Amino acid sequence: MISIIGAGPSGSYLAYLLAKNGYKVNVYEEHSKLGKPVQCTGLITSAVDNVYKVDDECIVNKIGNIRIIAPNNQEVNLKLARKNYVLDRAKFDMFLNNLALSENVRYNLGNRLIDYKASKEIELIFKNKKTNTGILVGADGVNSVVNRTKLKFVIGKQARARGSFDADTFTVHLGYGNFSWVVPEDENTARIGVIGQDANKIYNELARKGNFKFIEWQSGIVPIYDRKLKTQFDNVYILGDAAGMVKATTYGGIIYGLMAAQELCKAIKEKKNYDELWRKRFGNELYLSLLIRKYLNKMSLNDYNELVKIFKNEAARKILEDYDRDFPSKFLFKLILREPRLLKFLKLVF
Ligand SMILES: Cc1cc2nc3c(=O)[nH]c(=O)nc-3n(C[C@H](O)[C@H](O)[C@H](O)COP(=O)(O)OP(=O)(O)OC[C@H]3O[C@@H](n4cnc5c(N)ncnc54)[C@H](O)[C@@H]3O)c2cc1C
Repeated sequence: MISIIGAGPSGSYLAYLLAKNGYKVNVYEEHSKLGKPVQCTGLITSAVDNVYKVDDECIVNKIGNIRIIAPNNQEVNLKLARKNYVLDRAKFDMFLNNLALSENVRYNLGNRLIDYKASKEIELIFKNKKTNTGILVGADGVNSVVNRTKLKFVIGKQARARGSFDADTFTVHLGYGNFSWVVPEDENTARIGVIGQDANKIYNELARKGNFKFIEWQSGIVPIYDRKLKTQFDNVYILGDAAGMVKATTYGGIIYGLMAAQELCKAIKEKKNYDELWRKRFGNELYLSLLIRKYLNKMSLNDYNELVKIFKNEAARKILEDYDRDFPSKFLFKLILREPRLLKFLKLVF
C-alpha cells in the first residue's frame, strides 16, 4: 500500500501514475473539497505539455505577450514564441483527481495527517484514526508534515479582480516586492499579485492606486528551494512544494511537481534512487533559478531600470521570447554571451 498525503497536482498526478502501474494507492487530503481554496496564479508555460498534456477545459486563457515594466516606467514587450496558459487551478486539480479515480485510487477527504512514525511499516496518525502503510509520500505542500525540515518561504499576496485588461498580455512590475504581476483571465478579470516578505503592505499601496474591484483573495506562501534537502528517507518520500520544488525566479512550482511525480513513480517501480533521478532532470534548473533570484533581490531600482534597458536590445529580447523560463540552463549562458552587460550583475551573487 502506498499512502500519499495531499491531493494537489503533485499528489494526484503521482497517485494516477502509480495506480496505472498496478500499485494500490490511498490519497489523504485535509480539505473536504478538492481544488479549494485556490492559492495560485496558475500561469504555466506550454512546456507542461511535454510532461502531461493539459486538457483545454482547465485553461481559461492563453497569453502571447509579456510586458516587463521597470521602476522608471520604461518597459520591454516580449512576444512569446509559444503561448503561456492560465489555468483554472480548481479545475486542474479536479482533472488530475479524476485521472487518479479512473485508475481506482482511493481518496480520503477531510483527513489531516498530524504525525507519523516511520519504521518498516509506517504508522500514519490522523485526528480520529491511525493506519499503517508500506510507503509514505508527502505531497502536502509548503507546510508539509511528512517533510520534517521546515522550509523557508516567501509570501504571495494575490486576488482576482474586475477591471479592464489586455487579455493577451501579462504584466510584470519590477521594484514592488520581489515583483508584482497582472495575469488576465479575459478582458474584464485578472489575477493581480505581489510576492516578497512585505507583500501585504505593498499590495495595499498598489490597491489604493489601481482601478480594480477585488472579487476573491487567493494568497498563499511559496517555498524557497533548498538544494541540500533530502527528499527520500527509506520508504518515505517528498515532492512538489513539500520538497521546495519551486523555481525562485518566478515562483512557479506546478510543472516541477508533475516532473517529480514521474521520477518518483519510476524510482518506486524500478527500485531506483528518487533523489538522484529528479535532481538529474531539473535540479540544476531550480538551483540556477535560486541564484538568479538572489541576484535580483540584491538589485537596486536603478539596476532594474538598467536590466529592462538591456532586455529591450533585440538579441536579448529574442532569447527571452524563444525559451521557456522553466529551464534557465538552456538559455542563461546564451543570454550572457549575447549581452555581456549582464555580467556586471553577477558580482551581486558571488
Ligand atoms: C500566490 C501564489 C501564486 C502562485 N502562482 C503560480 C503560478 O502562476 N504557476 C505555478 O506553476 N505555480 C504557482 N504557485 C505555486 C504553486 O501553487 C505550487 O507550486 C503548487 O500548488 C504545488 O503543488 P503541490 O501539489 O506540490 O502542493 P499543493 O498544491 O500545496 O497541494 C498540497 C495539498 O496537500 C494538502 N495538505 C497539506 N497538509 C496536509 C496534511 N497534513 N494532511 C492532509 N493533507 C494536507 C493541502 O490541502 C493541499 O491540497 C503559486 C503559489 C502562490 C502561493
